[in-house]
Order: sequence, then structure tokens, then C-alpha cells
Amino acid sequence: MKAIRVKTLGGPEVLTLEDIPDPKPGPGEAVVKLEAAGLNYIDVYYRTGLYKAQLPITLGVEGGGVVTEVGPNVAEVKAGDRVAYSGVLGSYAQFAAVPAARLVKLPEGLDGKAGAAAMLQGMTAHYLSHATYPLKPGDWCLVHAAAGGVGLLLCQMAKMRGARVIGTVSTEAKAKLAREAGADEVILYTTQDFEAEVKRITGGAGVPVVYDSVGKTTFDKSLNCLAPRGVMALYGQSSGPVPPLDPAILNQKGSLFLTRPSLVHHTATREELLQRSGEVLGWIKAGKLKLRIDLTLPLAQAADAHRQLEGRQTTGKVLLIP
Ligand code: NDP
Repeated sequence: MKAIRVKTLGGPEVLTLEDIPDPKPGPGEAVVKLEAAGLNYIDVYYRTGLYKAQLPITLGVEGGGVVTEVGPNVAEVKAGDRVAYSGVLGSYAQFAAVPAARLVKLPEGLDGKAGAAAMLQGMTAHYLSHATYPLKPGDWCLVHAAAGGVGLLLCQMAKMRGARVIGTVSTEAKAKLAREAGADEVILYTTQDFEAEVKRITGGAGVPVVYDSVGKTTFDKSLNCLAPRGVMALYGQSSGPVPPLDPAILNQKGSLFLTRPSLVHHTATREELLQRSGEVLGWIKAGKLKLRIDLTLPLAQAADAHRQLEGRQTTGKVLLIP
């Protein structure tokens, strides 16, 4: 089969299309014929070495498709089931062997592309808005990179919970998309001081939660946007990692809470995986949550997809088609 492999760490140019053997399902595994692989910022971290993996690897941690074969001791799925998953390396390929316990059956009407677009970013937006800081009606929240893959879904889920959303974006075109996803206020953080804007919008009170996936360039000012006892949910670092900080800062800025959450710990049990994915996929099927598939490229053009994601050119989901 064809797969995109990483043998050495580096820029998008290290992604190479190779022929490797088709996977065989081991005990507890199912082989999925992938209709699409989802592109995520975490793929950039694996490619550059910010996240560690034993090389060589087949990149990609999200996919959707049809089960072709199951190994021993698999009760969750059977051949022919249309499924999706996230959190297992190896989806930039035609086939993937995946622990069956990580597979979710897709509802009638959703194909593998929708599954590959929904799982990782959708469940991330879900746990941030429902668990990390469960938004309440009337709460303000600050969502950085609001027109990104997670951002657009997080804006929508925040509105579903009755919260008020301040989104940050880098361009007017992205501002329009963030507004369409429900953002009440949008700040162009590349030209405006987002801290001053958040204070103005909230009448000086600040917000009870910041969802920050940008990291290095936004972290310090994000802390200043929080109301006393607010929650700083630092869930990514698309601009680079945040340097170490003195915990006393959290005291000085108002008894703040800082968390660095991960989807893995919010889908650790099969029960939680099914509950979270079930809600996300159910909302998509019902038309309550809109997926924005911005770019669909053949698997062979994975490097181009990475360039666009890192170059801040994408808005919503990027899919690779094997
Ligand atoms: P996005 O579609 O959000 O793409 C990243 C966006 O970040 C860009 O479009 C850009 O939006 C913004 N950005 C700001 N500064 C930079 C910079 N210097 N370089 C590149 N981008 C920048 O990606 P994803 O939706 O895939 O992921 C968003 C974030 O969420 C990532 O940091 C990712 O690691 C994190 N994540 C964390 C998870 C978790 O459980 N912890 C799970 C899933 C994702 P703009 O141009 O508007 O500034």
C-alpha cells in the first residue's frame, strides 16, 4: 500500500510517499481501508520532533473508512462497518491496523471523510467546552485561532452552551468565518492588542476561561485576560512552546488555574470515547454542528497540506485522500 512516511525529522519536505506492506490485524485490532486521513497540527509536532516517536513512522492520527478485516478478540466492530478514529499513529495511508477499542461506528449518512474530519478536532472542542471549563449560559470565553480546525468547532459548541465568544484571528476573511461559527466579538490579534480588546468588551472584568492553542505568542496576554480564579486552558502551541513559568504568577494574576489538557486523557475509556464522539457525530448528523472541510488533497500532496496548515492558510479541516 501507499503511505506517507517520516524517516528523519524536519520540514514538509521530509514527508515521502512510499510502498509498504499492507497491515495485518493483530489481536484486538481491525484493519480499516481509509477513505480519508484527517490533518492535525499534532502531525506537524511529530514531523518536527516536538512530539517524540520512534522513526520511521507513518504520519497521521485520525482517519475514517471501512473495516476490511478483524483480528482475534474483536467484539467492537466487524468487516464492512464504516468507522472513524483518532489518537492512533499511521493514518496517512491506504490501510491502517487500529485497536478496535479506539474505533467508533459512524452514524448512517456520515461517510469516512466526515468521520476523519470530526473525530479529533470535534472531541477536542467538546472536552474543552464541556469538561476543562464547562461553559455556562452567559459566560464569556476567549477562543484563539477561532477560524482554525478546533476553533470553528469550539465557537459553535460554546454557543450551544449559551456562552458568549470572543474569537481571535489573523485576517478579515477568517473573522467572517469565526462570526459565522457564532463568535460574538472577533479580534484581529495580528493588528489589535487582544488584551486591551478583551478588557474593553468585558467592561474590565475579564473572561472566566481562555482556550489558547497558539501558545508562545499569546500565553502571557491570555493570562491577563482572565478574571480572578479564571481557567487558562493551554491546549496547543501552533506559534511555539510556552517557556517555563513561575507558579507564583498564577497567584499574582488572580488565583488562576492553568491546565495543559490532552484529548487522550478525555477519551481514555471506551465509555468516554463513545459518549464524546457520539455527541459530536450526532450533532453533525442533525445539522447542529457544521464541519468546514476547507481543503481536500490526494495523499501524495501531504507536504503541500502541511505547508498550508503551518502557513496559516487553512480555515477548518484539511483531509488527505489515499
Ligand atoms: P488550526 O487549524 O487551528 O491551525 C493553526 C492556527 O493557529 C492557524 O491557522 C493560525 O490561525 C494560528 N496561529 C497563530 N500563530 C501561528 C503561527 N505562528 N504558526 C502557525 N499558526 C499560527 O489547527 P488545528 O485545529 O489542527 O489545531 C489547533 C491547535 O490545537 C494546535 O495548537 C494543536 O496542537 C491543538 N490541539 C490540541 C489538542 C489537545 O487535546 N491538546 C487536540 C487537537 C489540537 P490565525 O491565522 O487565525 O492566527
